[in-house]
Amino acid sequence: MPTAKAKKSSAAKSSGSSATGKTKSAGASSTNENSKLEKFFLDALKDIYWAEKHLTKALPKMQKAATSEELQQAIEEHLNQTKEHVNRLEQVFDQLGEKAQAKKCEAMEGLTKEGDTVVEETEDGTATRDVGIIVSAQKVEHYEISAYGSLITLAKTMGQDEVADILTQTLEEEKETDQLLSQLAETSINWEAEGEGEEGEEEEEEK
Ligand code: FE
Ligand code: FE
Repeated sequence: MPTAKAKKSSAAKSSGSSATGKTKSAGASSTNENSKLEKFFLDALKDIYWAEKHLTKALPKMQKAATSEELQQAIEEHLNQTKEHVNRLEQVFDQLGEKAQAKKCEAMEGLTKEGDTVVEETEDGTATRDVGIIVSAQKVEHYEISAYGSLITLAKTMGQDEVADILTQTLEEEKETDQLLSQLAETSINWEAEGEGEEGEEEEEEK
């Protein structure tokens, strides 16, 4: 791997900072010369920024497709939180002295496409569709929880404690939403769906 080696040695030569990357001091980040990890972090921020912005468009569609009023409310509430998640990410970019920029998140695009398919393949007005919406929404929340979890850990590693704090506020809301969705599913919607028969058939198990 001659290229990697060459890169590494030139980086080592030009970098006056700690080679271990284990420095905990804040303030080093205000320079324009970002470390590899800082660049990686910035890229991950752009990814989740795209994802959150995308969700501000996807959530209203999910809300419209849902039947349960409680589910509709939960989605609407999370839409409002999501708009705040976009704002917080803009604060983070600002804090890092970077321009807020979105970079397409293939994962979130895939998750929401899958959510659209679930809606298409279930009947309007059924609890079964609501189950599908909850499952899709929880996949989205889990993606966000893992993305924010990683970003927070990396921010702390880089000594960006304020950034970590901002991202933690969002992480907590993603977790709460996930729990709320579980609760809705387990206390009512799954049970209602369980009582729904198959189209044009007697209740029959697929076996
Ligand atoms: Fe979010
Ligand atoms: Fe979310």
